[in-house]
Amino acid sequence: MNAARDWPAKGSRLAGLLAKLDIQRPEDLVVHLPLRYEDETRLTPIAQALPGETVQIEAEVISCEIARPRRQLLACLRDADGDEIGARWINFYPSLQKQLPPGRRVRLFGEVRGGFFGVEMVHPRLRPVEEGEPLPQALTPVYPTTAGLSQSNLRALVDFALANTTLDDALPADICRRLDLPDFATAVRCLHHPPPDAGARLLAGREHPAWRRIKFEELLVQQLSLRRAYNARRAHGAVSLPPQGTLTDALLRERLPFSLTAAQHRAVAEIAADLAASHPMQRLLQGDVGSGKTVVAACAMLRAAENGWQAALMAPTEILAGQHYHKLVDWLAPLGVDVAWLAGGRRKRARDAELARLRSGECLLAVGTHALIEDPVDLPRLALAVIDEQHRFGVRQRLALREKGIAGLRPHMLMMSATPIPRTLAMTHYADLDVSVLDELPPGRTPIRTRLVSDARREEIVARLKAACLEGRQAYWVCPLIEESEALQLQTALETWETLKAALPALRIGLLHGRLKGEEKAATMAAFAAGDLHVLVATTVIEVGVDVPRASLMVIEHAERFGLAQLHQLRGRVGRGAAQSSCVLMYARPLSETARARLKVIYEQSDGFAIAREDLHIRGPGEFVGARQSGLPLLRYADLEADAAMIDPARQVAEELLANAPEAVDRLLARWLGGREGLLRA
Ligand code: ADP
Ligand code: MG
Repeated sequence: MNAARDWPAKGSRLAGLLAKLDIQRPEDLVVHLPLRYEDETRLTPIAQALPGETVQIEAEVISCEIARPRRQLLACLRDADGDEIGARWINFYPSLQKQLPPGRRVRLFGEVRGGFFGVEMVHPRLRPVEEGEPLPQALTPVYPTTAGLSQSNLRALVDFALANTTLDDALPADICRRLDLPDFATAVRCLHHPPPDAGARLLAGREHPAWRRIKFEELLVQQLSLRRAYNARRAHGAVSLPPQGTLTDALLRERLPFSLTAAQHRAVAEIAADLAASHPMQRLLQGDVGSGKTVVAACAMLRAAENGWQAALMAPTEILAGQHYHKLVDWLAPLGVDVAWLAGGRRKRARDAELARLRSGECLLAVGTHALIEDPVDLPRLALAVIDEQHRFGVRQRLALREKGIAGLRPHMLMMSATPIPRTLAMTHYADLDVSVLDELPPGRTPIRTRLVSDARREEIVARLKAACLEGRQAYWVCPLIEESEALQLQTALETWETLKAALPALRIGLLHGRLKGEEKAATMAAFAAGDLHVLVATTVIEVGVDVPRASLMVIEHAERFGLAQLHQLRGRVGRGAAQSSCVLMYARPLSETARARLKVIYEQSDGFAIAREDLHIRGPGEFVGARQSGLPLLRYADLEADAAMIDPARQVAEELLANAPEAVDRLLARWLGGREGLLRA
């Protein structure tokens, strides 16, 4: 070991580099674990060094010279069997040549390449050695690092950290024994300095017991921090909203043209139980596109109203919020329940009137966009906040809505997610919420037929669209996503609209995009919903939530540009009525590897949970969690797929420790999160 002598001083260059890796304290380095290992414990004969492999060879220098005109240092070396290899440096100090005089014995470590003149290594690591010099006994760790911070620097600092921090086990010994895990000190020492018998394969695959211990501890810490946040929020007071047997029951009995699915009944009951408590609900309602989350939210909102308290429903787009509003008014007006509407584009007079009705408490239900959380909106009796498509909102926006209620008490929170969340992700990253799942679609839906069609067949598709519309069907035509430029996307939408209008003069075709004024959007949506438009050309503004059961055909242009969740959401706009629906995914070649994988999944799968699992597999959890993640401990080592079997035990142990061993909880959180736990959103 060759430990650093001190921890770098605050403000020093080294401290700055470490900070880039989110390393503030020696403790952070103890759990800054190698990405991989290099095996310098063995020598490979040149004859067996295959291109593409990373190996160590020992050989004598035959020649070494600077080549021109492209200045490089070229060496030729020969090993004990008489085989030769080249070594090449494009950037080098003149002193390097002096280290390579003919006859000198060296060890080279690097990737072998098949060159024009036989095998070679480019920029190998070089070490002069004497004949018979012993090989290292441990694998060499390679750490995640940042420009300017060398591996040898990091290794020395890691050794300092291992020698100068307490590695005492925070996990009680009986739990380690029960789960057959090594203790913490053994695990981290092994991962930083794996003994030669550690098994390179187990280490590389992260299946070694030492890795299992670290991954378990990481999952455990995630559970602990999220459950602690959950308990802390639960410690607040909230208005108890017991069933009164009035409005909610009336909605279900008299107003709905359908009866709830078993899954909806279950969710309504789970929410009702939460709302009756005098601490705030923190529940996530998730279900596939079209599973009927809105009516569940409506039941919850009526529960507040029937107790004389306010409820607010916030949705990410004006179209979606507007649709919720109309649906609620349709259901609730005959019951004598008033709903206020708040969105960005409203005229001042109308808006002020709504604000006044809410401020006085005369109106109990409010629906809107983020306009709901703006300052002048006063909801003095807010007891329930529902957030649709919760992943579209930032932490701060969700908190702002929560702040609206009565001082000293917190509103109950119901979050809804349209993108199904795979079970493993729900159990880990959402462990601070209770979860209700709608795992069943309302009856009477016919499955959507999905087709993949090359855009070379565009005319054929336009002809089919025409035929379908003349038979009385309605269609969405989704314009390509252009991520780099909103202006370009808008232009494409306009062009598509013009072309379709010209090609299909017999049809009424509307256009919907994000730049339209609120009223224009609402008018276009209303016309489409009423059947006055055959085709709705739209950008992805229709992605979330739009519900027009009569529309049964969807064409998505450049489907290869969309993400899986997005395609699933878009496709979910059809198949909402009894008619056979189809979705045509038009794609343009060439298709990237990922695009191909995505299209295959969306073609083969219709179940949102299955698609979400594939999506998690393709993208990893980071993007999934999106806006939620600020301050959230993401997983660095544990993998939700490979380590799924550890999640349940981690949850159990977390509950056990929270109940019986608070000091162990403190130590675990301190070790992994340091001061960062405070960042966990409240
Ligand atoms: P999502 O879960 O995607 O938000 P919605 O709440 O928009 O789904 O519901 C989709 C459609 O299904 C709506 O038209 C809604 O009125 C209808 N719906 C909801 N629940 C039922 C049910 N139990 N039976 C029949 N139709 C239902
Ligand atoms: Mg919805």
